[in-house]
Amino acid sequence: MTSLNVWDIHGGIHPPECKELSNRTPIQRPPLPARLVVPLVQHLGAPAEPCVTLGERVLKGQKIAEAAGFVSAPVHAPTSGTVSFIGPQPYPHVSGMLSAAVVIDSDGQDEWIELQPQPDYRAAQPDQLLEQIRQAGISGLGGAGFPTAVKLNGPPTREIRALIINGTECEPYITADDRLMREKANELVAGIEILVHLIQPKQVLIGIEDNKPEAIEAVRTAVGERGFLVKVFPTKYPSGGEKQLIQILTGEEVPSGGLPADIGMLCQNVGTCVAIHDAVLLGKPLISRVTTLTGEALARPMNVEALIGTPVADLLEFAGLDPARVNRLIMGGPMMGYTLPSMDVPLIKTTNCLLASTLSELPPPPPALPCIRCGECAEACPASLLPQQLHFFALGQEHEQLKAYNLFDCIECGACAYVCPSSIPLVQYYRAAKGEIRELEQKQQKAEHSKQRFELRQERLRRAEEQKEADRKARAERAAKAKAAQAETSSVPNQDDPVARVQAQKAGLSEQQKKLKIEASMAQVALKKAEKQLAMHATPELEAQVNELRTAAANAQKALDEAAGPADASPTAPPVNDEAAKKAKIEAAMLRAQVRKLEKLDARDADQDAELSRLQAQLTEAE
Ligand code: SF4
Ligand code: SF4
Repeated sequence: MTSLNVWDIHGGIHPPECKELSNRTPIQRPPLPARLVVPLVQHLGAPAEPCVTLGERVLKGQKIAEAAGFVSAPVHAPTSGTVSFIGPQPYPHVSGMLSAAVVIDSDGQDEWIELQPQPDYRAAQPDQLLEQIRQAGISGLGGAGFPTAVKLNGPPTREIRALIINGTECEPYITADDRLMREKANELVAGIEILVHLIQPKQVLIGIEDNKPEAIEAVRTAVGERGFLVKVFPTKYPSGGEKQLIQILTGEEVPSGGLPADIGMLCQNVGTCVAIHDAVLLGKPLISRVTTLTGEALARPMNVEALIGTPVADLLEFAGLDPARVNRLIMGGPMMGYTLPSMDVPLIKTTNCLLASTLSELPPPPPALPCIRCGECAEACPASLLPQQLHFFALGQEHEQLKAYNLFDCIECGACAYVCPSSIPLVQYYRAAKGEIRELEQKQQKAEHSKQRFELRQERLRRAEEQKEADRKARAERAAKAKAAQAETSSVPNQDDPVARVQAQKAGLSEQQKKLKIEASMAQVALKKAEKQLAMHATPELEAQVNELRTAAANAQKALDEAAGPADASPTAPPVNDEAAKKAKIEAAMLRAQVRKLEKLDARDADQDAELSRLQAQLTEAE
């Protein structure tokens, strides 16, 4: 189904397309390279981690590096051969940097691993299907290389209303998607059906610029009676930006700083859809891609389906590079691509074009002049930004102003620089400013992280100190309790030790009780003495005296008993320690000895008798 119902975007430019250079011949297959350099970073996110060893034989399609995190993608061997090196290798970047890679020496057999296609994918659970796409190492083939499985695995709360298929390919020179749509339209539609099964959108919109009539026809035919809408719109650069394409096809705008998913949209490039078809229906991981080889320095510009890791020099040679004519080698297109400092780099998953241009074809820009505030750049900006303001803020490193003027909505399309009469390389300023801001934010995040770690550590130490103090207090309390319990135990008199018992009892007597006790003892002694004399000389006087003494002794004992009160009301004996008990024992023994000595005398005078009575009373008390 075809729809002409499209919207226009702000700005945009119409640079020479130069697409006819490469779009006239079918996609070619270059010869198998002798050596492939497969970088571990070909996607946005964490680099993959090698899972093969040096000298190991690998088969075509075998996984050679695992995804290292959620936002990451595995990497596979593009052909069969031997792992000859794992480590830093030249990487396609403007800086000429090195990056970790697995190098495979081809054995020329191009022998596949056993493939596991899933033709009945509709019976599979969405998670299973997503995992198959993840394991195939697919990352966006039209842009920055965001891992496709991550993009498809949005929060369940975000319902995707429209699946947008990007067949725009708006940048000059590049025709890889054009040829892919012409030659692999059925695979493209099959890939879209897998996506539809996965995310169940209400609408599928396929956007193609009107400068690709053959591709439009091929896709329209492949879509057939399906409900996918093929939307054709006028060619204008940069209609292929995600946000711009959504606006062109739906009239809706993705908010500043937001994502298409925020308004229920999901964008996928046509090449990515074909890769999804290959992964699910053929079981093949992403090990090759269609790339445009173009520029006037090539004798045979064309599109190739090249293995990932193929040296750029090999590809350019295949396309008939004239080294004498090439002035600038660009990876990508002339608007958004970057100059390669060397041909000694491999093709990676995001390489959609290699442009070998001559001096006359892409002459160097004239020296930049001061801004004349003509406003042409703002007119051309598809993101409705103010490029001249951004330029001034970038010059002054006014980061807050740059953010306030939505620098990060800039898609670095270069339309502003293209129209600038002062030839100011505006995009370079924006890229540098974005880099500075990101770096600063990373530093701030790091500092914030360190601060949080420091505060957490302080808090941990404080809590540990508190715990230590609490433990110390608890130990002290336990020790005090144990001591008290021990003291209590030792304060209970030993019932088998009469001295301790007496001492305890003695210690518990009041002054009055002590006096009564002495009187009772003396009365007893006097009674015993009188009874003795009565036994020897029985006279009525002595008998009367004995009776009197008996009564007196009984009264004294009674008075003592009454003073002591009921047995259970006795005050608790105070603690008696061992030393006191010993002392009491010694005193009692000495009294006993003195009493015996006086008792042994045959004839005692009155003083000796009185002394004996006193000692006996004391002994009784002591015992
Ligand atoms: S187009 Fe160039 S000269 Fe004109 S306002 Fe923008 S930056 Fe300044
Ligand atoms: S490079 Fe950025 S500022 Fe310039 S036109 Fe493109 S989006 Fe606008």
